[in-house]
Amino acid sequence: MINLCDLTYEELTEYFVNMGEPAFRAKQVFSFIAKGTESIDDLTTLSKSLREKLKKDCEIYLPVIERKLVSKIDGTIKYLLKLNDSNVIETVAMSYHHGISVCVSSQVGCAMGCTFCASTLGGKVRNLTPGEITGQVIRVMKDLGERVSNIVVMGIGEPFDNYDNLIRFLKNINHPEGVNLGYRHITVSTCGIVPKIIDFANEGMSVNLAVSLHAPNDEYRKAIMPIARKYNLKELIAACRYYFEKTGRRITYEYALIEGKNSSDECADLLIELLKGDNCHINLIPVNDVKERGNVRVTKKRVEEFKNMLNRAHVTATVRRELGSDISASCGQLRNSAI
Ligand code: SAH
Repeated sequence: MINLCDLTYEELTEYFVNMGEPAFRAKQVFSFIAKGTESIDDLTTLSKSLREKLKKDCEIYLPVIERKLVSKIDGTIKYLLKLNDSNVIETVAMSYHHGISVCVSSQVGCAMGCTFCASTLGGKVRNLTPGEITGQVIRVMKDLGERVSNIVVMGIGEPFDNYDNLIRFLKNINHPEGVNLGYRHITVSTCGIVPKIIDFANEGMSVNLAVSLHAPNDEYRKAIMPIARKYNLKELIAACRYYFEKTGRRITYEYALIEGKNSSDECADLLIELLKGDNCHINLIPVNDVKERGNVRVTKKRVEEFKNMLNRAHVTATVRRELGSDISASCGQLRNSAI
């Protein structure tokens, strides 16, 4: 069965043309899918006979809500969504003054092995298809009855370990006949797969890039993130500079502060040395303690001190607003409790 959500606009056009149908059928179906249609029977602009023909090979599958947790503190919503092979993923909807931001997953599980992260504990199960990524956004919009204004690909999985499907998702979600969300309203977060950062820079999309840095030199980074053994910081930062040159989009570096691992004065100084003069932004995250991981969160005071050290040296840093702390909104925790 073909999930029609997985096809790009061009593929959908080709599909109908090959069936002897006019190309504009693609436009009709594509816009129905973006509005949340879940059944071929509901594609009412198509004739009954065409719908019957489509049903032989195709379906429209959107991930289904298995559980929904709403934060009493800030209204953040965490969804556990079920895919049609019964795997589950997480999607989070956050309310900001500028609208709703949705955090989507890119894989079932993750192969990257970062030592503080809950998503990677059981390894990678499989990649998500483009339609399963788009489907998360459409499901949230349907559930909330509201359009989303931003998407962050920061949920379960490493998006650059699922590169082709990520690109297809981005093209579909951006398409004027579909959800029509501008690239500038989308952020992709990577643990730092250097060749893919270069490829992404060359795609000509002005998507925002966030890079999980988490350490100021190779030695400390290797102790936290296995990917650091494959690509060193010199290569990583060079790739990020290239991304900025090509797209004009300022890189965000994510830095989870972990007691005793990356939060000392020495680390702040090394970080300043690494990034001084770059047009970038550092997002400090007090690490979320995942119980299997045993990482200790630094104090609020230490977060402030670390931030101030960076800002005094003109390396722009802010502390990430913590949302959904009562519903374990950091990635992977809800899925782990469900499998
Ligand atoms: N694989 C991608 C995207 C998913 S992780 C990446 O590595 O960027 C999204 C962000 O959440 C990353 O910055 C990641 O490092 C961070 N993160 C994961 N687990 C965390 C935890 N326990 N505490 C704080 N941040 C965490």
